Amino acid sequence: MADHPIKTRLFVDSPLADGQSVGLDHERAHFLRHVLRLDRGDSVAVFNGRDGEWRAAIDGFGKGWCSLTVAEQRRQQDTTPDLWLVFAPLKKGRIDFVAEKATEMGVSRLWPVFTRRTDPNRVNLDRLRANAVEAAEQCERLSVPEMGEPLPLDRVLAGWPADRKLYLCAEAGNARPIAEVLKDAPAGTASGPAALLVGPEGGFDQSELDELVKLPFVVPVGLGPRILRADTAVVAALACWQSLAGDWTAGGSDRRPPFRAPIPSPAD
Ligand code: SAM
Repeated sequence: MADHPIKTRLFVDSPLADGQSVGLDHERAHFLRHVLRLDRGDSVAVFNGRDGEWRAAIDGFGKGWCSLTVAEQRRQQDTTPDLWLVFAPLKKGRIDFVAEKATEMGVSRLWPVFTRRTDPNRVNLDRLRANAVEAAEQCERLSVPEMGEPLPLDRVLAGWPADRKLYLCAEAGNARPIAEVLKDAPAGTASGPAALLVGPEGGFDQSELDELVKLPFVVPVGLGPRILRADTAVVAALACWQSLAGDWTAGGSDRRPPFRAPIPSPAD
């Protein structure tokens, strides 16, 4: 492995197996050739969310393309906790931050939902996914969170799977602290299937909160006495859940990849 220093890490769609050929699109070919200045024979790491992580060697570049040959496997596929983030979309910049941080924090699905006070009323799913891909490449994840179809909150709730707890992040005074709720959950039930729900910048409408708390799978949780921006609330709630119920707990840290210095990704 020391003979083949890895120059970057890329998410690809193709199957990965020894000797498999992988083609890269124009953007990735440009990044490898002109930004990282890689050449034929240089090694990159590739993952696809199914087959673990592999070293792949650059075979060559053409006009707007690059081809790789997959060599040895570096890591087996692992699993991420079964945790969805359901959130009201935010303005550009803040929603990019949410996609990046939630991916780093290990969510398995990002699901934008429209609440009564949600602004904006559209989501660019391609952009959301591109941010998630870049974050997964950078943070050593072996998967990219799936994207839930953006829908009104009531439609999402109408089809909600009964066995998945939905932790509703509700502002100060409305809910028990998240740490208390997760610690008191019956053994094994906090760790999933689970989802966190974070409202829009204007907060949930009172009638929305009234409807939410009547649902059997909804558990209101508080994140302290201060009103957090929605993007802050996402990170705070994910940190609490991961440290108390997810893969920051003792068993989870065994799955950490061996340390190595950060490697560049197209995000840099
Ligand atoms: N309703 C608030 C207001 O206008 O005063 C603002 C909502 S806050 C900016 C956005 C979202 O973050 C909320 O809907 C909630 O889901 C979450 N949030 C913020 N602070 C929170 C806290 N202390 N505890 C739990 N959730 C919080």
